[in-house]
Amino acid sequence: MIDPNAVFDSGRLLALPTETVYGLAAPIDRPDLIARVFALKGRPPSNPLIVHVGSVDQARACAAEWSDMADHLARRFWPGPLTLVVPRAESISPVITAGQDTVALRMPNHPVALALLKASRVPVVAPSANLFTRLSPTCAADVAAAFSAEDVEIVDGGRCEVGIESTIVAVDETRQTVTLLRPGMVGSEALASSLLPGWQWINAVQSEAELSAIAPGRMREHYRPVKPLTVDCRAQAPRSTPEGAVTVSLPPDARDAARALYRRLREADQQDGCSLYLRLPPTALSDPSWAAILNRLRKAASHWLVPSD
Ligand code: AMP
Ligand code: MG
Repeated sequence: MIDPNAVFDSGRLLALPTETVYGLAAPIDRPDLIARVFALKGRPPSNPLIVHVGSVDQARACAAEWSDMADHLARRFWPGPLTLVVPRAESISPVITAGQDTVALRMPNHPVALALLKASRVPVVAPSANLFTRLSPTCAADVAAAFSAEDVEIVDGGRCEVGIESTIVAVDETRQTVTLLRPGMVGSEALASSLLPGWQWINAVQSEAELSAIAPGRMREHYRPVKPLTVDCRAQAPRSTPEGAVTVSLPPDARDAARALYRRLREADQQDGCSLYLRLPPTALSDPSWAAILNRLRKAASHWLVPSD
């Protein structure tokens, strides 16, 4: 296996396969390489990065306070597609956290990612290995299409099993709350039913403005194909595709749909046609297992057709 420390010592970044999407990795103690991550992606510095760890102990060392709740969620859902936002340890640079006093932590569930994280001297930041606002990469070829081998060593770990970015929750020990900041394939029901006694689950009841204040960058991150995308949720949607549009289809099961989402959008984007057209099953709008897919599609879509239209 490739030695991640040698890659970083040579001044290059590592593209690491995870179960969600491929990440563009740099060690948390190399500000120069972290700056390269922002620069290569074109990501604004106001958008904080998720620190990826190989163990719960490593996560605890990145946190100023590691509450019983954070520990409980980590042991229940890690390795897996759940990111925990907790108070930041002094050792975590504010460049990583966009100046915030909190840090986002995750242990990915992918054998190659875990092996690389265990081999790495320190945890790594690893935002998606794509250009800012573009579709996230779910295979090594997607990464190779965006970055040169001179800048990035790509480790091929096959197709991403989950296919969309992690669920993010903020764990606030003072308020005894766990707040959903970004939906993902670890669902709200599973999280809400996993809390310790006395803790409260907050499911995005805040306004978008309030959420943006605690999760900066959230609103500005989009996941866009190049061509304009229309998402049609109407039960009586026309059977034929609009003139000049390429049809994107998703499997009926939410897990399969998440796994296929970015790949299908990419494939459709590369075909001849001036726009993309995706029909959703009308039941998806009220099905909690589709919440994360709808969240990504809302960011990707230029037009959103709902039943009342
Ligand atoms: P990703 O785009 O998958 O790399 O995830 C990064 C996102 O995680 C950011 O856009 C933020 O919304 C969120 N995030 C990262 N760090 C924090 C933090 N300290 N507090 C709140 N949200 C965070
Ligand atoms: Mg991203």
